[in-house]
Amino acid sequence: MTKRKGCLFVISGPSGVGKGTLRERLFQCIPDLKYSVSVTSRKPRESEVEGKDYYFVDEEKFKKYIKENKFAEWALVYGEYKGTLLKTIQESTDRGKDLVLEIDVQGAMQIKKKFPDGVFIFIAPPSWEKLEYRLRNRKTEGEKELQKRLNEAHDEMKYVQHYNYLIINHHLEKALKELAAIIISERCKISQDELGKNNPVGDI
Ligand code: 5GP
Repeated sequence: MTKRKGCLFVISGPSGVGKGTLRERLFQCIPDLKYSVSVTSRKPRESEVEGKDYYFVDEEKFKKYIKENKFAEWALVYGEYKGTLLKTIQESTDRGKDLVLEIDVQGAMQIKKKFPDGVFIFIAPPSWEKLEYRLRNRKTEGEKELQKRLNEAHDEMKYVQHYNYLIINHHLEKALKELAAIIISERCKISQDELGKNNPVGDI
Protein backbone atom coordinates (compact mmCIF):
# COMPACT_ATOMS: atom_id res chain seq x y z
CA MET A 1 0.00 0.00 0.00
CA THR A 2 1.21 3.51 -0.74
CA LYS A 3 1.35 5.87 2.25
CA ARG A 4 -1.27 8.59 1.90
CA LYS A 5 -0.58 12.20 2.78
CA GLY A 6 -2.68 13.76 5.52
CA CYS A 7 -5.79 15.74 4.49
CA LEU A 8 -6.50 19.30 5.51
CA PHE A 9 -10.05 19.89 6.71
CA VAL A 10 -10.85 23.58 7.02
CA ILE A 11 -13.96 24.46 9.00
CA SER A 12 -15.39 27.99 9.04
CA GLY A 13 -18.64 29.65 9.98
CA PRO A 14 -19.90 32.64 11.96
CA SER A 15 -19.13 33.00 15.63
CA GLY A 16 -21.81 31.24 17.70
CA VAL A 17 -22.72 28.72 15.01
CA GLY A 18 -21.45 25.82 17.14
CA LYS A 19 -18.12 25.05 15.43
CA GLY A 20 -16.32 24.43 18.72
CA THR A 21 -18.89 21.94 20.06
CA LEU A 22 -19.10 20.17 16.71
CA ARG A 23 -15.34 19.88 16.51
CA GLU A 24 -15.08 18.47 20.05
CA ARG A 25 -17.73 15.84 19.28
CA LEU A 26 -16.07 15.05 15.97
CA PHE A 27 -12.80 14.27 17.70
CA GLN A 28 -14.63 11.90 20.04
CA CYS A 29 -16.13 9.90 17.20
CA ILE A 30 -13.36 9.93 14.59
CA PRO A 31 -9.94 8.74 15.68
CA ASP A 32 -6.59 9.97 14.39
CA LEU A 33 -7.69 13.51 13.67
CA LYS A 34 -5.37 16.28 14.74
CA TYR A 35 -6.53 19.76 15.74
CA SER A 36 -4.52 22.67 14.42
CA VAL A 37 -3.78 24.87 17.43
CA SER A 38 -3.68 28.50 16.28
CA VAL A 39 -1.53 31.35 17.50
CA THR A 40 -3.42 34.40 18.80
CA SER A 41 -2.79 37.80 20.29
CA ARG A 42 -6.09 37.51 22.18
CA LYS A 43 -5.93 37.13 25.95
CA PRO A 44 -6.90 33.64 27.18
CA ARG A 45 -10.41 33.12 28.54
CA GLU A 46 -10.70 31.56 31.99
CA SER A 47 -11.18 28.01 30.74
CA GLU A 48 -8.58 28.16 27.96
CA VAL A 49 -5.32 26.24 28.10
CA GLU A 50 -2.04 27.28 26.45
CA GLY A 51 -1.07 24.86 23.68
CA LYS A 52 -4.48 23.17 23.68
CA ASP A 53 -6.89 25.97 22.74
CA TYR A 54 -4.34 28.44 21.36
CA TYR A 55 -0.74 29.49 21.60
CA PHE A 56 -1.14 32.85 23.30
CA VAL A 57 1.42 35.50 22.34
CA ASP A 58 1.50 39.29 22.52
CA GLU A 59 0.89 41.43 19.43
CA GLU A 60 4.60 42.16 19.04
CA LYS A 61 5.49 38.49 18.87
CA PHE A 62 2.62 37.79 16.45
CA LYS A 63 3.90 40.51 14.10
CA LYS A 64 7.41 39.08 14.38
CA TYR A 65 6.05 35.68 13.24
CA ILE A 66 4.37 37.40 10.26
CA LYS A 67 7.69 38.98 9.24
CA GLU A 68 9.46 35.64 9.58
CA ASN A 69 6.85 33.99 7.30
CA LYS A 70 5.92 31.50 9.98
CA PHE A 71 2.22 31.52 9.11
CA ALA A 72 0.37 29.50 6.47
CA GLU A 73 -2.40 32.06 7.00
CA TRP A 74 -3.22 34.79 9.43
CA ALA A 75 -5.99 37.36 9.86
CA LEU A 76 -7.35 40.03 12.14
CA VAL A 77 -10.49 38.39 13.50
CA TYR A 78 -12.79 40.59 15.60
CA GLY A 79 -9.82 42.89 16.30
CA GLU A 80 -7.41 40.13 17.39
CA TYR A 81 -4.65 38.45 15.41
CA LYS A 82 -5.12 34.74 14.73
CA GLY A 83 -2.93 32.51 12.59
CA THR A 84 -2.02 28.94 11.62
CA LEU A 85 1.65 28.01 11.70
CA LEU A 86 3.07 26.53 8.48
CA LYS A 87 4.95 24.06 10.66
CA THR A 88 1.67 22.69 12.10
CA ILE A 89 0.39 21.91 8.60
CA GLN A 90 3.65 20.50 7.26
CA GLU A 91 4.22 18.20 10.23
CA SER A 92 0.73 16.71 9.99
CA THR A 93 0.51 16.21 6.27
CA ASP A 94 4.01 14.72 6.08
CA ARG A 95 3.14 12.22 8.82
CA GLY A 96 -0.08 11.25 7.03
CA LYS A 97 -2.23 12.79 9.79
CA ASP A 98 -5.50 14.50 8.93
CA LEU A 99 -5.54 18.03 10.31
CA VAL A 100 -8.62 20.07 11.26
CA LEU A 101 -8.32 23.85 11.03
CA GLU A 102 -11.11 25.88 12.60
CA ILE A 103 -10.42 29.30 11.14
CA ASP A 104 -12.27 32.32 9.80
CA VAL A 105 -13.15 32.92 6.13
CA GLN A 106 -10.19 35.23 5.43
CA GLY A 107 -7.76 32.59 6.66
CA ALA A 108 -9.59 29.80 4.82
CA MET A 109 -9.23 31.66 1.51
CA GLN A 110 -5.46 31.96 2.08
CA ILE A 111 -5.23 28.22 2.81
CA LYS A 112 -7.27 27.47 -0.32
CA LYS A 113 -4.71 29.32 -2.44
CA LYS A 114 -1.75 27.51 -0.87
CA PHE A 115 -3.37 24.10 -0.37
CA PRO A 116 -6.05 23.74 -3.07
CA ASP A 117 -6.51 20.03 -2.24
CA GLY A 118 -7.84 20.93 1.21
CA VAL A 119 -11.46 20.17 2.06
CA PHE A 120 -13.41 23.32 2.90
CA ILE A 121 -16.49 22.98 5.09
CA PHE A 122 -18.81 25.85 5.98
CA ILE A 123 -21.08 25.64 9.02
CA ALA A 124 -24.12 27.93 8.81
CA PRO A 125 -26.81 28.72 11.39
CA PRO A 126 -30.43 27.72 10.66
CA SER A 127 -31.49 31.39 11.06
CA TRP A 128 -30.16 34.77 12.20
CA GLU A 129 -32.43 34.59 15.25
CA LYS A 130 -30.92 31.28 16.29
CA LEU A 131 -27.38 32.63 15.82
CA GLU A 132 -28.10 35.65 18.02
CA TYR A 133 -29.75 33.42 20.62
CA ARG A 134 -26.72 31.09 20.74
CA LEU A 135 -24.25 33.97 20.95
CA ARG A 136 -26.15 35.57 23.82
CA ASN A 137 -26.59 32.27 25.59
CA ARG A 138 -22.90 31.34 25.69
CA LYS A 139 -22.18 34.61 27.54
CA THR A 140 -18.54 34.87 26.42
CA GLU A 141 -18.94 38.35 24.86
CA GLY A 142 -20.27 41.68 26.08
CA GLU A 143 -22.99 43.49 24.09
CA LYS A 144 -20.55 45.50 21.92
CA GLU A 145 -18.47 42.45 21.01
CA LEU A 146 -21.64 40.46 20.35
CA GLN A 147 -22.95 43.07 17.90
CA LYS A 148 -19.58 43.09 16.14
CA ARG A 149 -19.77 39.30 15.69
CA LEU A 150 -23.36 39.46 14.43
CA ASN A 151 -22.48 42.15 11.88
CA GLU A 152 -19.48 40.18 10.66
CA ALA A 153 -21.64 37.05 10.33
CA HIS A 154 -23.49 38.64 7.38
CA ASP A 155 -20.21 39.20 5.51
CA GLU A 156 -18.88 35.75 6.40
CA MET A 157 -21.96 34.06 4.93
CA LYS A 158 -21.05 35.50 1.51
CA TYR A 159 -18.03 33.16 1.38
CA VAL A 160 -20.10 29.95 1.36
CA GLN A 161 -19.68 29.63 -2.42
CA HIS A 162 -15.92 29.11 -2.01
CA TYR A 163 -16.35 26.03 0.20
CA ASN A 164 -16.80 22.39 -0.87
CA TYR A 165 -19.44 21.51 1.72
CA LEU A 166 -22.20 23.30 3.61
CA ILE A 167 -23.65 22.07 6.89
CA ILE A 168 -26.64 23.82 8.47
CA ASN A 169 -26.31 23.37 12.20
CA HIS A 170 -29.96 22.98 13.14
CA HIS A 171 -29.51 19.95 15.37
CA LEU A 172 -26.09 19.10 16.73
CA GLU A 173 -26.42 15.32 16.19
CA LYS A 174 -27.46 15.70 12.55
CA ALA A 175 -24.73 18.26 11.84
CA LEU A 176 -22.20 15.96 13.50
CA LYS A 177 -23.26 13.00 11.33
CA GLU A 178 -22.87 15.15 8.22
CA LEU A 179 -19.45 16.40 9.26
CA ALA A 180 -18.24 12.89 10.10
CA ALA A 181 -19.60 11.59 6.77
CA ILE A 182 -17.62 14.23 4.87
CA ILE A 183 -14.42 13.31 6.66
CA ILE A 184 -14.88 9.56 6.25
CA SER A 185 -15.68 9.83 2.54
CA GLU A 186 -12.76 12.17 1.90
CA ARG A 187 -10.47 9.65 3.62
CA CYS A 188 -11.71 6.92 1.27
CA LYS A 189 -11.24 9.04 -1.85
CA ILE A 190 -8.73 7.78 -4.39
CA SER A 191 -6.18 10.46 -5.13
CA GLN A 192 -6.16 11.18 -8.87
CA ASP A 193 -2.48 12.22 -8.61
CA GLU A 194 -1.46 8.89 -7.13
CA LEU A 195 -3.64 6.93 -9.54
CA GLY A 196 -1.32 7.65 -12.46
CA LYS A 197 1.72 6.42 -10.51
CA ASN A 198 0.47 3.54 -8.37
CA ASN A 199 -2.21 0.95 -8.02
CA PRO A 200 -4.21 2.36 -5.03
CA VAL A 201 -4.47 -1.08 -3.41
CA GLY A 202 -0.81 -1.93 -3.98
CA ASP A 203 0.00 -5.65 -3.91
CA ILE A 204 -3.12 -6.90 -2.15
P1 5GP B 1 -12.43 33.03 19.41
O1 5GP B 1 -11.80 34.36 19.69
O2 5GP B 1 -13.89 32.98 19.81
O3 5GP B 1 -11.61 31.89 19.94
O4 5GP B 1 -12.39 32.79 17.82
C1 5GP B 1 -13.01 33.68 16.99
C2 5GP B 1 -12.83 33.24 15.54
O5 5GP B 1 -11.44 33.17 15.20
C3 5GP B 1 -13.43 31.89 15.20
O6 5GP B 1 -14.43 32.11 14.24
C4 5GP B 1 -12.29 31.11 14.59
O7 5GP B 1 -12.69 30.43 13.43
C5 5GP B 1 -11.26 32.18 14.24
N1 5GP B 1 -9.90 31.64 14.30
C6 5GP B 1 -9.36 30.85 15.25
N2 5GP B 1 -8.10 30.54 14.96
C7 5GP B 1 -7.82 31.11 13.77
C8 5GP B 1 -6.66 31.13 12.91
O8 5GP B 1 -5.62 30.54 13.18
N3 5GP B 1 -6.76 31.85 11.77
C9 5GP B 1 -7.90 32.52 11.41
N4 5GP B 1 -7.89 33.16 10.25
N5 5GP B 1 -8.99 32.51 12.18
C10 5GP B 1 -8.97 31.82 13.35
